[in-house]
Amino acid sequence: PLVLGIETSCDETGIGIVRGRTLLSNTIASSMDEHARYGGVVPEVAARAHLEALQPAIDAALAEAGVSLADLDAIAVTSGPGLAGALMVGVGAAKALAVALDKPLYAVNHLVGHIAADILRPIGDSAPETDAAPVEYPTVALLVSGGHTSLLLVRDLTSDVEMLGETMDDAAGEAFDKIARILGLPYPGGPEIDRAAASGDPRAIPFPRGLSRASDMAAHRYDFSFSGLKTAVARWVEQREAAGEEVPVADVAASFREAVVDVLVTKALAACRDHGVPRLLLGGGVIANRRLREVALERAAEAGVAVRIPPLSLCTDNGAMIAALAAELIRSGRPASTLEFGADSTLPVTEIQVAAREAA
Ligand code: ATP
Ligand code: MG
Ligand code: FE
Repeated sequence: PLVLGIETSCDETGIGIVRGRTLLSNTIASSMDEHARYGGVVPEVAARAHLEALQPAIDAALAEAGVSLADLDAIAVTSGPGLAGALMVGVGAAKALAVALDKPLYAVNHLVGHIAADILRPIGDSAPETDAAPVEYPTVALLVSGGHTSLLLVRDLTSDVEMLGETMDDAAGEAFDKIARILGLPYPGGPEIDRAAASGDPRAIPFPRGLSRASDMAAHRYDFSFSGLKTAVARWVEQREAAGEEVPVADVAASFREAVVDVLVTKALAACRDHGVPRLLLGGGVIANRRLREVALERAAEAGVAVRIPPLSLCTDNGAMIAALAAELIRSGRPASTLEFGADSTLPVTEIQVAAREAA
């Protein structure tokens, strides 16, 4: 099916078009620059920016894909989770399009969308590590984004996502953003830390690996905690500054990044081992991290686990992943959503689609 996906959960206005598992276009307009001076996304500013960016983004995505609105088989939209005001803009636009064009509408979960990015066969997008073969089930999925850090057992991306564990405090992306601020790097911090870490020594400072000690692993095998790491980095930097010493930004960034990556990969592979599942899907903005991609590929290979990583352009928020998830739902014969849904800012990852029409 030819599906247009609309994503407006945060500060990216994403319009993606897929034909089944093939990516046709992926247009992203970001209001990031407008938020940078506040050090975080300002909800009202994001919502207004979506309103202005939507129509041009839809036009651009259609042009790039070489299709027209009339050609579409369905419209897909993020219902949640995310910023309520921002989500509402996308939901409103999607409903209007679906009604005006008389096309089925699929309202889907943003977080499952991040994982669905792994299904897409990218065209003209270099992703040598991404396997083009269909996803096999069950599979473990590691979702690491700006607001979430979860380990999932996926029996079927369209119908059965089980939460194995999640962060007990900060999300990994949030930790990247906070540490960047401590180091005087601009927002968003993930890419900045990645860049700064390139010339640093990952073993320079032994920062803590949250919930990874044997005693923690018993009770919190699949849970994450990044607040202790954040505090440890902050304290380490403060002590340097108090002593009048220069802060070795590259080493701190590299050591911090290594601690996050180590925990994420270790726990994801533990979940694969425990469940006898030699497959791992990675999804979410933090998967854009170069070290994380590298370590995940290396250690998964050692463990005999097949890992799938979305191309860089499909890691952070985009509309293609939303369209991809809807295309999978259609392929599985799931009914479209009714118009009886809105923005759900706290939609749990286990709710893959909202307002699904009752099967006849
Ligand atoms: P959620 O998906 O949980 O609702 P979100 O949509 O805001 O949150 P994403 O867009 O998936 O989050 O990811 C954004 C996060 O990814 C930010 O915290 C950002 O710092 C982080 N990020 C982006 N690139 C990198 C990178 N190269 N290394 C580490 N983190 C990164
Ligand atoms: Mg974003
Ligand atoms: Fe996201």
